[in-house]
Amino acid sequence: MKTIIKKTDEKNKDGQAIQEAGAILKAGGLVAFPTETVYGLGADALNADAAARTYAAKGRPSDNPLIVHIADMDALEKIAVDIPWSAVRLAENFWPGPLTMVFDKSEAVPYSTTGGLDTVAVRMPANQTAQELIRAAGGYVSAPSANTSGRPSPTTAEHVRVDLDGKIDMILDGGSVEIGLESTIVDMTVEPPMILRPGAVTAEMMEPVIGDVAIDETVLGSESNKAPKAPGMKYRHYAPKAKLIIVEGNIKEVVLAIRQLCYASVREGEKVGIMATGETICYYRHGVIKNIGSRENEKTIARNLYAVLREFDDEDVDVIYSESFAISGIGNAIMNRLEKAAGHLRISAREVTSRQKYRRIVFVSDTDTCRGPMAAELLRHRDLRQEYVIDSRGMIVLFPEPVNQKAEAVMKSARMTLAEHMATAFSEAEIDSEILLLTMNTSQKKKIASEYGTDISVYTLTEYVGVDGEILNPYGKALNSYGECMEKLSELIDKLTEKLNSFAEE
Ligand code: AMP
Ligand code: MG
Repeated sequence: MKTIIKKTDEKNKDGQAIQEAGAILKAGGLVAFPTETVYGLGADALNADAAARTYAAKGRPSDNPLIVHIADMDALEKIAVDIPWSAVRLAENFWPGPLTMVFDKSEAVPYSTTGGLDTVAVRMPANQTAQELIRAAGGYVSAPSANTSGRPSPTTAEHVRVDLDGKIDMILDGGSVEIGLESTIVDMTVEPPMILRPGAVTAEMMEPVIGDVAIDETVLGSESNKAPKAPGMKYRHYAPKAKLIIVEGNIKEVVLAIRQLCYASVREGEKVGIMATGETICYYRHGVIKNIGSRENEKTIARNLYAVLREFDDEDVDVIYSESFAISGIGNAIMNRLEKAAGHLRISAREVTSRQKYRRIVFVSDTDTCRGPMAAELLRHRDLRQEYVIDSRGMIVLFPEPVNQKAEAVMKSARMTLAEHMATAFSEAEIDSEILLLTMNTSQKKKIASEYGTDISVYTLTEYVGVDGEILNPYGKALNSYGECMEKLSELIDKLTEKLNSFAEE
């Protein structure tokens, strides 16, 4: 089948294209169209065969009911029975808009549209193109999201084309959608009404209008082993090809944990994706890093989420680490979709960060021009299981000075360089609970411990790796003394590497 693609702009609608699309639907065909939530795959909701075609095109299980889209309030009475007053109030307040209500169905609605259920889900979309199409199609358009089953929902016509080209009759290209997440679904057949799927219309928005609103316990969290009440929610929905892992906790810890996890994954040879936000993106280094939006304005995150999941698919990443979001307002819907995409794989940031004892290692010498910088550079060249910021500092640095020339000569002979190094004085401001200070001799260690307190981690390098002695300063001696110093440091750094790596073993 050749799929016709026609562009139509919300502000400058192509009436002819929409009429053509309506005629296709009336004849039992399939048309993908923009709504304010995601692109829908439309069919005539009252035509049983058309529903069957929808399931076939999406590769969707036929027990997963479709939402019937209407454009006028009068249309509701033909397809739903026992419409409660609260539904009328919700419609007055939130229709047209991203709210789907579930009612007992009338005889007019075939069971193939409702996946065999006696209830029908109904929504009146706000998108003008969608409304015009629904009217052109006779008033009742069933539409699930216009993606291949299991893939992230489409938020652009291009996403639809990638999934369904050749399988449907037409795509109405209305550009990018506004909201980016599927509608809120609320079951109006129970008292109080119950949210089966969170969306842009939240419980806090509905409660002032109709009073209490319940939330299906399967909406968030992996603890429940009950089947979700919206049949579609039981599938591992919206899923990217890669394994998606949500990292939960406060944002500072989440960033540290993701950095740690990425470092480990990249070291294992995996291609890693990171879902970062505008506020955190600058803290990540390794992997394919994508900005899904701003924490300040979570609507941007909702709008980008599915597109970013698709981009990760295109980049063929093996694993995606995602930050988590507060579950208030639209955040509830964002976390719900993320959890579905992750198949409920969640990990606590604190649990991850507690696996790493130190994050920064600083080698302390007198002048920071020879032993310290050598040790730091040697450690940077080791295969460390965890990521460390590695530096060196001096106890008596009066002005920035480059590294000793003989030290640089022996480093060069081992294919390393300290050419970029400038001596820096040790300062109290750098001390925190995650820093490991390794000095060259006991007097440096004692000085730090006596000046800055005993609860900081300061050791001589030799002591820390369990050998006797100190590292002598080769200053003023011949080149071969510098060579010997580097060799001794190199042995100690091997032992240090082993010790640090043992922390990552649990
Ligand atoms: P989609 O628009 O692709 O997200 O699919 C429609 C969603 O609405 C699916 O999650 C369905 O399970 C849900 N749905 C449709 N009809 C009903 C219904 N009668 N009762 C409960 N959920 C429904
Ligand atoms: Mg869907």
